[in-house]
Amino acid sequence: MSLPLAQTLSLSRYLLAQRLRRRRRYPVVLMLEPLFRCNLTCAGCGKVQYPTHLLRTEMPAQTCLEAAAECGAPIVSIAGGEPLLHPEIRRIVDGLIAQKRWVYLCSNGVLLEDAVEEGRFEPNKRLSFLLHLDGSGEEHDRSVCRAGVYDRVMAGIRAAVKKGHRVTTSTTLYQTSNPRRVRELFDELMEVGVEGMTLSAGYDFPTAADQKAFLRRQETQRLFRAVLSNRSRSWRFNQSPLFLEFLMGLRDYECSPWSNPTYNLFGWQIPCFFLQDGYVDTFRELIEETPWQEYGRASGNPRCQSCMVHIGYEGAATQHMLSLKGLALTLRALARGRYIDPGQQAILEAWEKPARREAARSDGPGAAEPASGAPAAVTAATAPADLAATVATCSPAEPSKSL
Ligand code: SF4
Repeated sequence: MSLPLAQTLSLSRYLLAQRLRRRRRYPVVLMLEPLFRCNLTCAGCGKVQYPTHLLRTEMPAQTCLEAAAECGAPIVSIAGGEPLLHPEIRRIVDGLIAQKRWVYLCSNGVLLEDAVEEGRFEPNKRLSFLLHLDGSGEEHDRSVCRAGVYDRVMAGIRAAVKKGHRVTTSTTLYQTSNPRRVRELFDELMEVGVEGMTLSAGYDFPTAADQKAFLRRQETQRLFRAVLSNRSRSWRFNQSPLFLEFLMGLRDYECSPWSNPTYNLFGWQIPCFFLQDGYVDTFRELIEETPWQEYGRASGNPRCQSCMVHIGYEGAATQHMLSLKGLALTLRALARGRYIDPGQQAILEAWEKPARREAARSDGPGAAEPASGAPAAVTAATAPADLAATVATCSPAEPSKSL
């Protein structure tokens, strides 16, 4: 894991304290969604379909800070929507840091370079930008349904690293992900100075535009084994090695959705970031009154059978690390290092031919950007042939100024 020592120690202290208190369910990462509005309309997103009046609504900074204090999680992921569109985002970040929380500002990166150059945020060891990147070049542009976004995110990363900010990335893999291109992405992210990467499998949001993109459990394991076997020594991950082994199908866990509770404009979401089975007003109600036995794979809940998302399972892997056996497995995982597997190398090399990289960048429809500064939308009618099938499933793209 590539976490700074201070954060590792702080998190370890918190986890040990929970264990000593014999707490069975406790939060590790608060998923805070202070708005749903976004300047992209990605095919795999289940949030941007809310009606316009909700997309225009923002959670006041004070409410965000009260929710974080009520929850008590040592880490807060500010998600959304696009948090950099929130007019009080600086106040939210500063308030969370003042509460001594470790803050991950999750962003699609479109506005990052401007935010950094304008000095909207001071570098701080407790603040990390967490940039969403699902692939290298056109794979990412296809995933977010806009050409030019990958280049913009990379420009933002370079600017943030140069200013001394902590920068991490979040990569979600889908049916269309090409493991060779994902590995290329990891190499590029390490080269530009990203501190650590996080990985997840996509969750099949019932409201997402592209329902064919989501992976079933065995497909997820096959894909992650191809990506993470024979890995480069330079790759750094901000996740438990046991969780990465879970993604590769080398071990199993049961979901612990309470470890990553979600708070948004509706309240505390039952039971997790992805399912919306209701809302309660307090964190206490969420923990004490949610029928947790109805969720996770073992419950038989059909909506949980294919799920391998970090929101549900990384907490379980982290808890496992606290036991003697878990610690031994973690040390063994670290010793395995590169996960050398010639069979996986052959699978990787035989994977289908990657799509043309230049298409979305130079002669793609988004090559010329509109005056607003937002990257141009890719449409099914104007996308290059190798992108058209996927782009056809994208949500209708609207520039943020129309919201
Ligand atoms: S398995 Fe866990 S994280 Fe996944 S949908 Fe079910 S409750 Fe949510």
